[in-house]
Amino acid sequence: MVMKFSEYEYIPIDIEKVKDEFHKLIEKFKEAKTAKKQISIMKEIDDFRRDINTNFALCNVRFTINTADKYYAKENDKNDEIRPVIQSLTNEYYKVLKETPFKQEIIKKYGKNIFDIVDVSLKAFDPVIVEDMIEENKLSSQYTKLIASAKIKFNGQTYNLSSIGKFAQDSDRAIRAKVSKLVSKWFEKHCEEFDEIYDKMVHVRDKMAKKLGYENYVQFGYYRLGRVDYNANDVKGYREQVYKYLLPLTKKLFKKQAKRLGIKGMKSFDYNLEFLSGNPTPKGDKKYLVDQAINMYDEMSPETSEFFHFMVDSELLDLESKPNKAGGGYTTTLDRYHAPFIFANFNGTSGDVDVLTHEVGHAFMAYTCRDVDLLDYSWPTLEACEIHSMSMEFFTYPWMNNFFKEDTDKYKFTHLNSAITFIPYGVAVDEFQHFVYENVDVTPEQRRLKWREIEKKYLPHIKYNTKFMENGGRWFRQGHIFEAPFYYIDYTLAQVCAFQFFNLMNKDREKAWAKYVKLCKLGGSKSFLELLEVIKLKNPFVDGSIKKIVKPIKDYIATIDDTKM
Ligand code: ZN
Repeated sequence: MVMKFSEYEYIPIDIEKVKDEFHKLIEKFKEAKTAKKQISIMKEIDDFRRDINTNFALCNVRFTINTADKYYAKENDKNDEIRPVIQSLTNEYYKVLKETPFKQEIIKKYGKNIFDIVDVSLKAFDPVIVEDMIEENKLSSQYTKLIASAKIKFNGQTYNLSSIGKFAQDSDRAIRAKVSKLVSKWFEKHCEEFDEIYDKMVHVRDKMAKKLGYENYVQFGYYRLGRVDYNANDVKGYREQVYKYLLPLTKKLFKKQAKRLGIKGMKSFDYNLEFLSGNPTPKGDKKYLVDQAINMYDEMSPETSEFFHFMVDSELLDLESKPNKAGGGYTTTLDRYHAPFIFANFNGTSGDVDVLTHEVGHAFMAYTCRDVDLLDYSWPTLEACEIHSMSMEFFTYPWMNNFFKEDTDKYKFTHLNSAITFIPYGVAVDEFQHFVYENVDVTPEQRRLKWREIEKKYLPHIKYNTKFMENGGRWFRQGHIFEAPFYYIDYTLAQVCAFQFFNLMNKDREKAWAKYVKLCKLGGSKSFLELLEVIKLKNPFVDGSIKKIVKPIKDYIATIDDTKM
């Protein structure tokens, strides 16, 4: 009998005890007289860290499943305060690890990436910025609360920003227009608050960077994301490739959409609707979808079959929306139990199936790496993580008819279409943030105008129906810009890599799958670009890559007749 999630035990963290034990382990590490001994203490330290992480994660999972649970709510608050202390302790360990006399032996066993991770972590953290980090977290919570507080009245009912979303894709144009105006109005009403929160965030981040000797937040922000092998200049070149080689295709796709909908003079709110006959929906409830997923992963490969049965049998998926459950979806790991966990909020849209493909891709990688020695090798950096999930979305295409029945073609078309059209938006979000952190003292109004300017460059099709949006208010809604600076480009980089898997699987599925499993097994043992090199995927930063990757996608799209959908 496998152990079930409900039997996993949360043990509250006693921070004084943890400090004491961590320090003892660090001393033991320093005193080790041989490489062999030191490596065995590295594993001991990582097991200790895994144990702490498991308690953090268990608490967070149980709190997000039921935010009204007083015990986990209180523990969660406590853990928010403990986290920076654990980061300080890890930092102490990294400093000692960096100076080890057995560096060569450790590299021989684990490769050099562990030392790159140590270096970049030390560059991205110092106890002198802990107070600023706490301030940054507080501002993040203010943003979350402000967004969550939205009450939008429509047709005699009150909605929040996510529940109003279903009307944003209504097939009645007048409803779409009305709803977009209401949403715009809400943001306009709270404009000063958003401006103030963001302005403070930008300045506290700039302050942290300067305290640690950086010119501004840009490079520091890259280090905080663990980026070791590319910089802002590489990303700039990548954005230029997107502009040159992808934009012609996205412009065409938006024109096709206008034609499908029969609308002349498309407005921003029209793009939420893909087909006049409505967007594709899954044909069954949660149980039906999970059963289909079990069959699919059984048929896909022995590895995915074993993994997905483990997830289902151990009850490591919490999929349905429930009262008091937090919003959104995520995958995390419970290291002590060598188990991933998937959290989602099913709502009857195609997004439910995306959970069973995208999040499962993350969880499959985590499961594949559940027994690695080093904790720092269990997940790679974020742009690499999204390759596992986004590529899995493509690997599941042959089974989509079990989920979508008569809507299958619509689903696949929409999925591929939106994967492509997302990239210029993602790049715009990134370019905007570089402007912001390189020009911290511009006024909020100048910031908004800059957003609109960048938007016009990458999303020239967008025409708004309110002055507020026309003057650059759309990004208030993009939480990453507030909460996770410079993260957004990662989705686009991963998408470009997932496209390479898609192109390859259309030619040779077996080869593509073998490559994918290899990538998952590598986990975080290598940096982003090294991972691509090992599995022979094109580096998106190299000029010409985007052009080559986009070509087969363009040809594939050309074979689909969307006018019949
Ligand atoms: Zn993801």
